[in-house]
Amino acid sequence: MWLPDPTGRFPERPFYQRDELDRECEKIMHGFLKSRNGKVSYPIETNDLVVLLEQESSDLDVWADLSSDGPDVEGKTTFSLKGKPTVEVIAELQEPHRENRLRTTLAHELGHVKLHNYLYRLHAGVPSPCCTHDTIIGASQVDWMEWQAGYCSGAFLMPLSVVRRTVREAKKGTGFSGQPDVATAEGQALIQQVRIAYQVSADAARVRLLQLGFVVE
Ligand SMILES: [Zn+2]
Repeated sequence: MWLPDPTGRFPERPFYQRDELDRECEKIMHGFLKSRNGKVSYPIETNDLVVLLEQESSDLDVWADLSSDGPDVEGKTTFSLKGKPTVEVIAELQEPHRENRLRTTLAHELGHVKLHNYLYRLHAGVPSPCCTHDTIIGASQVDWMEWQAGYCSGAFLMPLSVVRRTVREAKKGTGFSGQPDVATAEGQALIQQVRIAYQVSADAARVRLLQLGFVVE
């Protein structure tokens, strides 16, 4: 389905239902993990994410300097008219304490690679997106390219069917039910469980649980 593009980048932009993105991301991740490791388990190894992105791009540079693209740019996917896109992620995310940030950025760029390369074949010459600190996990829905890549970042790292299981087990363990508010102890406990089970930041876990309706705010 196509809608007018309010950002003016393209004449029209593709619209995906959230469950379409969830299904597609889970299929890609599970297919990859199964063929690479013979099994699907979470959290995804950071190196597995790197290998998947290497396979899906023509070149992946995780030691990039993107300072000339703007002060907060942490990742960039450069689309290609002929082949696969190239992906750059800033070298600073290799610092051990920023591994969660590296993981969400790799998964975000994978979203651009899988969803958006064909658009550039339709409309050559449109600039590729630069992904800033604030848009990697959650962008406004108006900035649909960033929003879609951000949604995919969560859907690759925390696929719907496995998160559903984590939430079910957490509820069984603690005895709460329904959709806890993120400000309550139950909501915070759920965010912590997801954070640990999928090796993501508390912010990424909170955004994903909100998007899936497992918590409210
Ligand atoms: Zn982006």
